[in-house]
Amino acid sequence: MNARLRAACVVGWPIAHSRSPLIHNYWLKRYGIAGEYRREAVPPQEFAAFVHSLAARGYVGANVTVPHKEAALALTRPDDRAQAVGAANTLWLDGDILRSTNTDVEGFLDNLDANAPQWDRGLANAVVLGAGGAAHAVVYGLIGRGVGRIIIVNRTRSRAEVLRERFGSRVHVAEWGDAAVLADAGLLVNATTLGMAGQPELPIDVKRLPGHAVVADLVYVPLRTPLLRAAREHGLRAADGLGMLLHQAVRGFALWFGKTPEVAGELRALVEADLGSSTA
Ligand code: NAP
Repeated sequence: MNARLRAACVVGWPIAHSRSPLIHNYWLKRYGIAGEYRREAVPPQEFAAFVHSLAARGYVGANVTVPHKEAALALTRPDDRAQAVGAANTLWLDGDILRSTNTDVEGFLDNLDANAPQWDRGLANAVVLGAGGAAHAVVYGLIGRGVGRIIIVNRTRSRAEVLRERFGSRVHVAEWGDAAVLADAGLLVNATTLGMAGQPELPIDVKRLPGHAVVADLVYVPLRTPLLRAAREHGLRAADGLGMLLHQAVRGFALWFGKTPEVAGELRALVEADLGSSTA
């Protein structure tokens, strides 16, 4: 490794599919920063040792993805956000201390702010489909924005109950397939894997949503999911998963390389082309 370069990486298992190198290396070039961002394929049994040797390997920080996000929390000094969500996806060295946060929260919120301005104004009811790691970040973000009532709908009800216990009385649980919850939802979020390439479509009829509703889909392969297509055809505002992916990357880059990067159209087009070529 070149000792002059600041370096960061994305750690996962598997990791070949990650678009993070494309995003961060675009920004490094765009801002003329002498840095590197690489993929690191690390199996679960080697993750702790890898994290402890981050500095020795020449890294100033890292992104962490599946299946390591919960382990990363335990191995670092997490901020309130990562602690509340129960997972860390961004690590950085602060002197000798390895700190962590969860940038899926701001990725989700900033993407909605950019694509559906004022989506949270007077938002009384939000419906979140899913109860996995991504849903935790979404619910934490919605609570922070003051959303009155958040209804979690998940195939496995017990996992939705875990979210209610974690985040308190503003969170409610409804049965998977309960379409009645859509009638007064100002925001619908898909935080399941349904609609992903190779997965079944979400069994949701967007015509049941009110006309002012906003739809956010976290899935970004394919980019235009059946849910997003249906929402737009029905005249609803929508925010896609690629936007969230790009916005969640901003803080890591700022922490590691000292520049807050812009989520610009050129970057989006670059990642879109890459996603298109791999899913065509
Ligand atoms: P996860 O922890 O594995 O959770 C998966 C969720 O999908 C669970 O709620 C699961 O329900 C549900 N699900 C899976 N198969 C289903 C089926 N056949 N029918 C009904 N529900 C089903 O995954 P995650 O990390 O939360 O990620 C969820 C999605 O968000 C993924 O598509 C991921 O790519 C996306 N994501 C996007 C971003 C971004 O930046 N755009 C960031 C994070 C995640 P059960 O509890 O019943 O299994």
